Amino acid sequence: MEQTACIIKPDAFPKYTGEIISRLLNEKFTIELAGTFRFDQLMVDSFYHAHIGQTYYENLSQFMISAPVLGMILARPQAIDTLRRSMGPANIGRREQGQIRFEFGDPDDTARNCIHGSDSHDAARYEIDLVKAFIGVT
Ligand code: GDP
Repeated sequence: MEQTACIIKPDAFPKYTGEIISRLLNEKFTIELAGTFRFDQLMVDSFYHAHIGQTYYENLSQFMISAPVLGMILARPQAIDTLRRSMGPANIGRREQGQIRFEFGDPDDTARNCIHGSDSHDAARYEIDLVKAFIGVT
């Protein structure tokens, strides 16, 4: 079964955790692992390494460090694409009704978009290992 990494971000954890997980279960995801943790700068730099140097990186990393998150490993056929579709895009103007980011993300701040999902097979492999390490499971 395909796996993907998912994080309920500081703006949505714990407030919208129940509603977001309920949507994931409706999409037939299995939660294979879940645990809370709090990012520090080094953890954000490794998780979002592809974004270091972008104009929004300081805003993104401070936001991710600001409060605990819920990390999960989700599984189902086509898990990566299915989660990306359910989430909707980061870009505020392109989110559509019914998508998790439209319903629970901040309509005024791209960084505060309530959920992360791996965007490729390579990213999923990398992020699953990090989420396990961050939660403290080996
Ligand atoms: P994702 O894979 O859909 O999460 O989107 P990206 O890989 O493009 O960006 C990663 C994360 O960085 C997003 O989920 C946002 O939290 C944040 N981000 C991306 N673009 C911007 C931006 O233009 N402004 C701000 N403030 N944050 C951004």
